[in-house]
Amino acid sequence: MTWFKREENGAPATVSDPSPENGGDAAAKNVRTEGLWVKCPGCRQPIYKADLDANLRVCPKCQHHFKIGARERIDLLLEPGYEVVDTGLRSTDPLNFSDVRRYKDRLRVAREQTGLDDAILNALGRLGPHDVVLSAMEYAFIGGSMGAVVGETITRAIDRARESRKPLIVVAASGGARMMEGVVSLLQMAKIATALAQLDEARVPYICVLTDPTTGGVTASFAMLGDLNIAEPGALIGFAGPRVIEQTIRQKLPDGFQRSEFLLEKGFLDAVVHRKDLKAYLVRALEFMKA
Ligand SMILES: [Zn+2]
Repeated sequence: MTWFKREENGAPATVSDPSPENGGDAAAKNVRTEGLWVKCPGCRQPIYKADLDANLRVCPKCQHHFKIGARERIDLLLEPGYEVVDTGLRSTDPLNFSDVRRYKDRLRVAREQTGLDDAILNALGRLGPHDVVLSAMEYAFIGGSMGAVVGETITRAIDRARESRKPLIVVAASGGARMMEGVVSLLQMAKIATALAQLDEARVPYICVLTDPTTGGVTASFAMLGDLNIAEPGALIGFAGPRVIEQTIRQKLPDGFQRSEFLLEKGFLDAVVHRKDLKAYLVRALEFMKA
C-alpha cells in the first residue's frame, strides 16, 4: 500500500490505495474525501473539517487554535451588516524586487488566493453594543507581512477611530515587515506608531489581539502598543526567532518560550483569551474603558 508517492518526472504527487477494501478505485476515493479531514498540529489527531469549522477552527480535542482569515475574523467579532472600508490599495513594488520569484508575481498569486488586495482588511461595525473600527490581518497573504499597503490601511483605521471616537481593535497575524519592500516596510512601524500616539492623546481606546503568529516588526510596533494587549492561546509571539536569540545570548531558551502563556506570565500580555470567549471579553473590556 502506498500513501504518498513522489514522481520524478515533475508530475504532481499522487495518493494511491489499490487495496481491496477501497475497490482499487483510488482516484474516485480521493475526490470524495479530499479536504474532509485535517490533521491537528497540536495533538496530531485527525479532525473532521466540518467539526473544526463549527468549533471556530479550534481543535475540539486539544484546543489548538488554527489560523483564520481576515474575513472570518471580522465575521466572528462583528454583528452582521458591518462595512468593509479602505479597500483598493495595492503595492507599487517600489524596489521592483525579485528573489526566487518576482514580487509582482507573488502579489498577483496572493490576491488570487485570498481575494484581498493585501494582508489586511478594515471594517466598521458593531461589536456587541459597541461601535468599533476593526482591522484584521490576513496571514495567507504573503505571511501577513507588513508593507506600505498594510501600514497605510492600519493608519487609516487608526485615523477613523480617532476622528469618530470609536474604539480601535486590531487583530494581528504577521511574520513581520515585508522584506520585498525593504526600508519602505520598516517605515510603516514609525508611521503606525505615530498615528497610535495621536489616538492615545485623543483618549480613544485601542485593543490589540495577537494571534498565531505575531512576530518581527509587527510585534515591535502596533501589536504591543494597545491599551490592552491580549492573545489567543498558544500563539507564537516574538521579535526575533528563537534560534537567533539562542545564538546571541548563548543560552538555551526555556520551554514554551514566545508562546502566549509564557508572555502572559512574564508581563508582556494582559490576558490570554480562548477564541470562543474573545468577543464577550472585548465587549466587557470596552464597557470598562468607556466608563
Ligand atoms: Zn488537536
